[in-house]
Amino acid sequence: MPADNRRVAIVTGAARGIGAATAARLAADGMAVAVLDLDAATCADTVGTIEKDGGRALAVGADVSKGDQVEAAVARVAAELGAPTVLVNNAGVLRDNLLFKMSDDDWDTVLSVHLRGAFLMTRAAQKHMVDAKYGRIVNLSSSSALGNRGQVNYAAAKAGMQGFTKTLALELGKFGITANAVAPGFIATDMTAATAARLGMGFEDFQAAAATQIPVARVGQPADVAHTISFLASEGAGFVSGQVVYVAGGPLC
Ligand code: NAP
Repeated sequence: MPADNRRVAIVTGAARGIGAATAARLAADGMAVAVLDLDAATCADTVGTIEKDGGRALAVGADVSKGDQVEAAVARVAAELGAPTVLVNNAGVLRDNLLFKMSDDDWDTVLSVHLRGAFLMTRAAQKHMVDAKYGRIVNLSSSSALGNRGQVNYAAAKAGMQGFTKTLALELGKFGITANAVAPGFIATDMTAATAARLGMGFEDFQAAAATQIPVARVGQPADVAHTISFLASEGAGFVSGQVVYVAGGPLC
């Protein structure tokens, strides 16, 4: 039996996209998975997929930016699945606009979901990891951390995720806990479909245009990111910590 069969993972924003693929992949790796999203009802498809394949999953509704909801969600996971020792901070939103048009609310919402959400989730989950003297934390950054027109809020949040991750690695390493960030490039999900719509492009055309700029000549799929997270969340990756892995089909300058 693989060691990961003893593990309980929480994946935030797991109703769809990268989070759903990651939840399914960690379940296939043998973990029991808490599928967390804003509304538990939207997690039904992800949970159903995992259970159909013989895995164990729990739908959990919580807004990661709300401290009381996060504390209750992590406590529920511990009570119903077991102590969570794997955490994937994936929940995310976009509120793109050029700086001069960006509202206070666009800024606050993006910083709150990505950064405050990862902070609250990690602070709640680390207690279980420290007790277990084992943990794997994977945070979703982005190639936009390097700068992206129309995304001052998102770029700041995703660059912040990298500093957050490296500091977690420094503070928590002595408890057997690793922290790493995965920074995807263009991944075909509802999020990039929404960007295409905002720019007035069909999603197929948008993906084809993006692929011309990517060395492997295709856009990424949620499974590409899930595969990388699976490695970083595995027991065998215990000497990899504080790293940022770009999953972008090529190097980024
Ligand atoms: P997605 O399809 O939009 O899914 C994001 C999920 O997060 C949704 O289910 C959403 O729920 C949930 N969510 C939003 N706010 C939340 C909150 N406050 N609490 C709990 N859940 C919340 O996005 P994705 O493309 O899979 O992206 C996943 C992660 O990868 C994000 O952090 C994103 O920034 C990052 N990323 C994506 C790409 C890409 O090209 N797709 C590239 C780089 C990085 P609702 O549906 O209810 O809003």
